[in-house]
Amino acid sequence: MKKKRRKKKQIRIILLALIIVLPIVIGTVVFLLYEKPEKNSEAVMLDEVFGLTITHSYIPAANVNRTLIPRPIKYIVIHETDNYSASAGALNHAKYLLLGEAVNGWHYTVDESSIYHHVPDNEVAYHAGTWEGNYYGIGIELCVNEGADFEQTMDNAAKLTAMLIITYDLDISAVKQHYDFSGKDCPHLIREQGLMDDFLNQVEYYLTLYMKRNNLP
Ligand SMILES: [Zn+2]
Repeated sequence: MKKKRRKKKQIRIILLALIIVLPIVIGTVVFLLYEKPEKNSEAVMLDEVFGLTITHSYIPAANVNRTLIPRPIKYIVIHETDNYSASAGALNHAKYLLLGEAVNGWHYTVDESSIYHHVPDNEVAYHAGTWEGNYYGIGIELCVNEGADFEQTMDNAAKLTAMLIITYDLDISAVKQHYDFSGKDCPHLIREQGLMDDFLNQVEYYLTLYMKRNNLP
């Protein structure tokens, strides 16, 4: 009698454990499937955007500013470097990131004549000041170095932004400012001079150009 009762108790415990554990297992599987849509979690390496070359200068995987955390892409987050010295172009920011002196990192730096790519597009990087922005956003830094043509820098960033929208099947509403996530006054010049609409119009221009060139509706 005692043995039978013990067996019954064991079965009840196993059933109870299943009831508790199963939803967790199913939930985890669903979460993983949901968090990794095939559509836009694969990083694409663009070599050029509308004729402008992208230089790939990936930060070493061992650096503290590489998270190696894969994620889907929802946003393109616009920043400015806030470094006004004449030498603070994209190349020098690429060199700075290679040193891995701080945990902050971002995906692209754009100046008046070049684009540098630092982190795979589908990898988390710390640039937006919030979990949402860092986890789902591609960070683009626009250089504001003295003597450079900022209008041209914005145009180059618009080319890159448009191609990222096309590549990852996003739309114009995915383009955000750093400010939108954390409230930081970034991108500072664009915000101060009210240039965000100009920038978005430029992105739209390149989106339309791409559609026309590829005979897409
Ligand atoms: Zn910023």
